[in-house]
Amino acid sequence: MIRFWRQTRLFVLTTIVLAILLICHNPVPIAEAQPSTTPTTTNRSLLSVAYPNRALSASPAQLAPLPYGYGALAKAIDAETMKLHHDAHHASYVNNLNDALKQYPDLQKRSVESLLVDLNSVPENIRTKVRNNAGGHLNHTIFWQLMSPQGGGEPTGAIAQEIKQTFGSFDTFKKQFNAAGVARFGSGWVWLVRNPQNQLQIVTTANQDNPIMEGLYPILGNDVWEHAYYLKYRNRRAEYLDNWWNVVNWPQISRRSQLSSK
Ligand code: MN
Repeated sequence: MIRFWRQTRLFVLTTIVLAILLICHNPVPIAEAQPSTTPTTTNRSLLSVAYPNRALSASPAQLAPLPYGYGALAKAIDAETMKLHHDAHHASYVNNLNDALKQYPDLQKRSVESLLVDLNSVPENIRTKVRNNAGGHLNHTIFWQLMSPQGGGEPTGAIAQEIKQTFGSFDTFKKQFNAAGVARFGSGWVWLVRNPQNQLQIVTTANQDNPIMEGLYPILGNDVWEHAYYLKYRNRRAEYLDNWWNVVNWPQISRRSQLSSK
């Protein structure tokens, strides 16, 4: 009997020592441990939405030149608005983001998208500044590409089919998108996104939030901040939203739609 207890005690002690050794020598560092939910393909693609082929760098964040002249989108947006919007507003999001990250080299190594999808990993004292300015930088980087001097008209191919299937017709889609943009109270954005169920959906975001923060891939979006339209349209946001379709870059949107469904 005594021998039995000795053996049991030895067994229990050995197990405890082995367990402690295992915990202390865990070969996978905590920071690299897999998240509890395995990301789906859709979630992974949310880490690269700024451009069709790459994510947006934060080391440092940089203001890319407009892909066309200030007056090139005059069918919808005047040159003065474009210049202010890009050279002053977008530039200040870039500068403020760099300022927020200047003491945090580890955060600079991450993409703008990765900061936004995991804001809880950003220190609390800079979190709001990062949210607003990383969001502003990403939103505008996408926005400039969604427009073109040769833009307008109706989409073709797969995106056209999908819009028709989802909303009934292109006209109904435009009406719903514009109505959502008008209804967004204060400053924000209206978007066509792809949700995790792989469906198209119209959503709006407040301030400079981007749909990736809600697990949604931004395919197309319009800026409904007053700075986007006030010089030409004054308080007539609905008229701006209507005219904006004249410069929409469908080939680019079609590309984003394809990427989002992979
Ligand atoms: Mn803007």
